[in-house]
Amino acid sequence: MDIKEIFVAQPSMPPFEEYVETVKPLWHSRWLTNMGILHQELEEQLGEYLDVPELSLMVNGHMALELVIQAMDFPRGSEVITTPFTFISTTHAIIRNGLIPVFCDVKPEDGTIDEEKIEGLVTEKTAAILPVHVYGNVCSIEAIENIAHRHGLKVIYDAAHAFGVTYKGKGIGNFGDASVFSFHATKVFNTVEGGAVTFQDPALHSRLYNLKNFGIRGEELVEEVGTNAKMNEFCAAMGLCNLRHVGQAIARRRELCREYERLLEGVSGIRLLWGSSAVKRNYGYFPVIVQGEYPLSRNELYKLLGKYGIHARKYFYPLTSDHACFAGRYQGASLECARYLAERVLALPVHEGLEVEDVGRVVAVIRSGVCPLTLE
Ligand SMILES: *Cc1c(COP(=O)(O)O)cnc(C)c1O
Repeated sequence: MDIKEIFVAQPSMPPFEEYVETVKPLWHSRWLTNMGILHQELEEQLGEYLDVPELSLMVNGHMALELVIQAMDFPRGSEVITTPFTFISTTHAIIRNGLIPVFCDVKPEDGTIDEEKIEGLVTEKTAAILPVHVYGNVCSIEAIENIAHRHGLKVIYDAAHAFGVTYKGKGIGNFGDASVFSFHATKVFNTVEGGAVTFQDPALHSRLYNLKNFGIRGEELVEEVGTNAKMNEFCAAMGLCNLRHVGQAIARRRELCREYERLLEGVSGIRLLWGSSAVKRNYGYFPVIVQGEYPLSRNELYKLLGKYGIHARKYFYPLTSDHACFAGRYQGASLECARYLAERVLALPVHEGLEVEDVGRVVAVIRSGVCPLTLE
C-alpha cells in the first residue's frame, strides 16, 4: 500500500522566484547581515503586522527570550514563575540567565498558566512571571497583570505560538512588559530561523540592540557586554516574502482546523484544547486531549496513526521540569493539571500543505480506534 505521509508540521515557503527577486540586490550590495536594508524593512513591517509600538528582530525565538530576560536586569538567583507545559526553550532561557524557574500549574481547559495558583508561589525573591500563550491560547492577561502589579513583578510572555493572534482586538504582543515571538521554520510565520521581542518601553530597544550586537555602538565604541543574535539578510528576505502570504496561510489552517472540529464532533473522549472566544486565532496547532471514554490511550492512538503514515506529536510531553538535564530538581512542584495534559495531549497535523481530505484520513483513523473499520 502506497500511502501519502502526513506530517505534523511543514514550513511555509514563498514562490521560489519571489525569494530570488528579493535577495538579488544582495549580490550587488554584499551587505549580508548587520541590520541591512531587508532587516530594517522586516522589523518595520512586522511591527505593523503585529500592531505593536516597538519590535526588535532576533536570530531566533530562544535568543529573543534570553535577551529580553537579560535586559530586565533581575538580580542573580531571582525567581521567575512560569509553566512546564511548553517547549524546553522557555525554561532554558530562565536558567541560562542565572535565574530560578518556579513552576506553576496550568488550566486543564487550555493549557495556559493557572492564574489562581500564581500568588501562592510568590516569594520575596520573585522578580517576574513568564507565562506561555501555548498553542496560541491566550493567558488570563488581566488577572496576571493584577498579580504583577500587586507584587511589583515584570511580565514577559512567551508568544512563540501566537503570531498574529489578537486579544479583544489588540495584537497579542501589546501585553505585559514584553512578548517573544518565534519565526522558526515550523511556526505559522517563518524566517527559516528567527524571532522578535515586542514591548512598549522605547528604552528597551537600544538595550536589546546592544545585547544582540556585542554592545557595539561605533567603530571604536563598545557600550556593554552583548552577544551575537542578529538576523541576517537571507532570513529577513524569507520573512518579507512569507509575510505577504501569511494571511492566506492562516486562512488555510483555519479551514483545516474547522474540518477537524466538524469531523471530531461526537467522538467521545477526544477533547479540543481551544482557549477563549475573545481571541482571533492563528490555527498554528490542533491539539486534542485523549481521555475518558476514548478506548485507546494517547500513546496507543499515536502509534495507530503512525501505522497509517500520520505523524502526530506528543506536544508537550514530557513537561520541561521533568527533563533529564534537571535530574529531578523540580519534582516537588505541584503540577497535576500540567501532568494530566502532558500524558494525554496529541498535536494533530496542520499546515498549509495539507488537503481537507487529509484531515478526513486522520479523523478516520481516530474514529477507527472507537469502532474498528477498514481503512483504504
Ligand atoms: C519555538 C518556541 C520557542 C523558541 O523559538 P526558536 O525560534 O525555535 O528559538 C520558544 N518557546 C516556545 C513555546 C516555542 O514553541
